[in-house]
Amino acid sequence: MPPGNPGRLVRSLAAFVLLSAAILPAALEVAAPAPSAVIGPPAGPITADRSAAPAPDRVDLRAPGAAPSVEIRRTGDPANRITLVLLGDGYTAGQQGLFREEADRAWRALMDIEPFRTYQNFFNIRRVEVVSPVSGIVEGDGGRPTDTPLGMHFWCEGTARLLCADEDATARYAGEDAGPQYLIALANSTEYGGAGGTGVTTLSGGSPDAGRIIQHEIGHTVGDLGDEYDSAPTDAGYPNLATVDADEMLRSKTKWWRWLGATSPDGGGTIGAYRSANGLYRPTADSVMRTLGGSYNLPSREAIIEQIYRRVHPLDGAVPAPGPVAGHPRLQVSPVPLSGPRQLRVDWAVDGRPVASPAPDGTWLDTAALAPAPGKKITVTATVTDTTDWVRDEAFRSRYMTREVTWTLIG
Ligand SMILES: [Zn+2]
Repeated sequence: MPPGNPGRLVRSLAAFVLLSAAILPAALEVAAPAPSAVIGPPAGPITADRSAAPAPDRVDLRAPGAAPSVEIRRTGDPANRITLVLLGDGYTAGQQGLFREEADRAWRALMDIEPFRTYQNFFNIRRVEVVSPVSGIVEGDGGRPTDTPLGMHFWCEGTARLLCADEDATARYAGEDAGPQYLIALANSTEYGGAGGTGVTTLSGGSPDAGRIIQHEIGHTVGDLGDEYDSAPTDAGYPNLATVDADEMLRSKTKWWRWLGATSPDGGGTIGAYRSANGLYRPTADSVMRTLGGSYNLPSREAIIEQIYRRVHPLDGAVPAPGPVAGHPRLQVSPVPLSGPRQLRVDWAVDGRPVASPAPDGTWLDTAALAPAPGKKITVTATVTDTTDWVRDEAFRSRYMTREVTWTLIG
């Protein structure tokens, strides 16, 4: 769940102004407290008509397959990707344009924070356009649930900003993919709220904080991270929370012991064990899991990358298929591309001896000069490795962030 919102009063007023379909005065925008670091697209609310549009003919809204699914971004075969599925609730037929805008703003904000920026090609993104018979969702405490397809509501478990969805209904609308997928439900609301770490990640699509909320909630969902704020539950079963201090962490080699003393390149400070008011320790003084708009601290960034690699392996394919090959083919591998200058490393070896690939990116090797004598064999291996120093767990790197393929050239 997102941290408490100090700007709640101002933002509620902003929501009221929006609902009145008036243009938000610039002065009111300025009155909102500045986030600690603005990452992602402008935080301003999208000024579109959020008021009730004419209701469409009533259909069986919970019927699977009733809503069109639109591919927004395809980076590779869904079998070797994580698919993010964005679904809307409380958006009428006439408000699907608003949903598309708010969904785009949300995923772009997510891809604007590391490590998601660098690893964005590990994700496919699609959008499911769920038409609601009513505009908006239940916002008040104890309000009667409106009949929206995903059943989204605030005041989940008695907490105002905890936004929940009917997970079964959301899953039915999302449908299946060949690989793992995460469901992200946007509520047609400007109220402050969200949830992560459960079956469905939620956020208010129209909240001025929507981009920063998804950055926080996905930390729970994809990274299995806990909340670092003072009022968070005292559950230390997360990679970024501990019951022990730095000395004990080092002694017992637990939690983020490999990172202690490291300096965040993004100004996040030195990694240590900072005690929250709830008694738990966190890796840095502040982060996106404590305050919206921050960045992930180094142990959290590593945890997210590890969770991505538990689902997506670094090699999309090899041509020709690994195994015995005849003739003198060019051998080629396709590592999942990173975003930015750094790419996965490819190491080639012939009969165990390292050889350089003529390709600038190391992705292929010509075997014309390697013709084995009749009746002999030559073994060629290509090893793809993510050498990032954002991961310090070398056992994990060997197991999940490295892939080797082998061809046997037959004479
Ligand atoms: Zn949270």
